[in-house]
Amino acid sequence: VIVCSVARLDKKSPNLSKPPPVLSGNCPIWQHLTQVTAPLRDTPGVTFCVYCQKNVLTRTSFEIGAMAWVFCGGITLLGCWPCMLLPFCLDSCKDVKHYCPSCNNLLHFYRKM
Ligand SMILES: [Zn+2]
Repeated sequence: VIVCSVARLDKKSPNLSKPPPVLSGNCPIWQHLTQVTAPLRDTPGVTFCVYCQKNVLTRTSFEIGAMAWVFCGGITLLGCWPCMLLPFCLDSCKDVKHYCPSCNNLLHFYRKM
């Protein structure tokens, strides 16, 4: 009787599963949040007052600027005399000064020309 025994080496390979590399350390994203405000034009707008250190809704004041004079000159040249003073009455032809309603400081000067 021949006994043939086969020795089987059942090697169990160790499970070499590496854990995924973990990037330790949270990188803080420094975001400099700047106040994005619409550019100040003809109408009162929200802007940051450096004197009050807060956001304010500006108070507008219309002043006769270069654009009004140019329109006046143009109308005069066209010969429309009764209308020559019209640009000085129209706010759309004037420069706009934006004041802080709290401290009344001039915050922005919007020149048409
Ligand atoms: Zn102010």
